[in-house]
Amino acid sequence: MQKNASVQHTQFEELLQKVHAVGKETIANHASDVDEKARFPQESIEALKSLNLMSAYVPVEYGGMGLDIEQVGKICHILGHYCGSTAMIFAMHKIQVACVVHHCLTVEYFKNFAKRLVSEQLLIASATTEIGIGGDLLSSFCCVEAHDNEFDLTKKAPVISYGEYADALLITARRSADAAKSDQVGVLLNKDQYSLEPISDWDTLGFRGTCSSGFVVTGKADIEQIMPIPFTDALSQTMHPYSHVVWASLWSGIAASAVGKARSYVKNAVRKNPTAPPISSIRLGEVDTALTTMKNNVAASTKEYADLLNANNPDAFSNFSFATRINNLKISSSQLLIDIVGKSMMICGIASYRNQSELSLARHIRDAYGASLMVNNDRIMMHNSTLVLMHKE
Ligand SMILES: Cc1cc2nc3c(=O)[nH]c(=O)nc-3n(C[C@H](O)[C@H](O)[C@H](O)COP(=O)(O)OP(=O)(O)OC[C@H]3O[C@@H](n4cnc5c(N)ncnc54)[C@H](O)[C@@H]3O)c2cc1C
Repeated sequence: MQKNASVQHTQFEELLQKVHAVGKETIANHASDVDEKARFPQESIEALKSLNLMSAYVPVEYGGMGLDIEQVGKICHILGHYCGSTAMIFAMHKIQVACVVHHCLTVEYFKNFAKRLVSEQLLIASATTEIGIGGDLLSSFCCVEAHDNEFDLTKKAPVISYGEYADALLITARRSADAAKSDQVGVLLNKDQYSLEPISDWDTLGFRGTCSSGFVVTGKADIEQIMPIPFTDALSQTMHPYSHVVWASLWSGIAASAVGKARSYVKNAVRKNPTAPPISSIRLGEVDTALTTMKNNVAASTKEYADLLNANNPDAFSNFSFATRINNLKISSSQLLIDIVGKSMMICGIASYRNQSELSLARHIRDAYGASLMVNNDRIMMHNSTLVLMHKE
């Protein structure tokens, strides 16, 4: 399993300043329009590409920045401040990049793909969810049908974020037509190797800019494009922990943005009447405590995952308590996000309820509700209840 070494501290701090700059100058300016029209945040993704961020997790030897998971999490957090959809797209792309980087760089096709990721700043989408399977990542109906050195694949995918805008697609499928539902592989197809037939649109409450419509995916590719390890290993070592870390990181950015608006509301009220602090100042202290808890949870889980990656021991990921803690990160972060944005709305009052207001939290609260549904918290909780029973002190 390949892992990245962290880049120099000062170099990384400079990069974060640049991310803030494109956040303020580009991403924030388009966030409302992206949300209103449920359109792909083209300008924002272009701005991230201009900083070579699509390949930030690709190792230096392949031309990437070689950032580690803690550094990627920090970028996701910053992006969450400016636009939840842009941050989600970046995070979801990074999950697929991590699968390639951690598990596939022994294969020539994937080595070349990593180099193209750098030179062309490719965007990778994923099709794990399947009609009839729902959010159960460990099962597939569709299968790889191999003949000679090629395979065919057809998948009915109800949700593929930015599917129409991606340059490549990572798809889960059964290993063969006679394989069990759980005997899965991951395959990485280039845009010219698959077609997308639309089956559902994406007119949703939140995360509207992710453009997560449904498609029937039909593809044909070379056998070499099948990931060289069973998908279940890629899931436990990368997709599962990496997803929850980068998602929770960006959600903490959305939450911090909401608290920032609440703080400016209270500051304004204090300025108007310095002798009598408003009741909302207590609420601000309260919501700040919740935000600190959320950030601490993210930092602890990210550090734990980073340490496991650094230990370079794939067996460590089969540890039940690690999986449970990562699941807890997802459940608690998605719940805290709703709580924090809701509390911030109580502070800002009607100004946060308006769509056109400096203090509007309408997009934040709508995005917040998506977090518990993407891999449903109840599904995760059910899984955790089994893991907790098996856990020995
Ligand atoms: C913004 C967003 C972007 C997304 N992007 C992508 C993407 O790019 N690619 C992709 O493949 N998917 C994507 N998804 C889909 C996501 O990852 C989930 O797979 C999907 O949301 C699950 O859909 P569901 O609610 O219909 O299914 P389910 O997870 O099946 O949930 C439906 C209901 O059944 C219950 N349920 C089902 N099974 C169990 C169980 N075993 N234990 C307990 N409860 C259970 C749930 O609690 C829930 O009430 C995205 C989702 C969102 C919200």
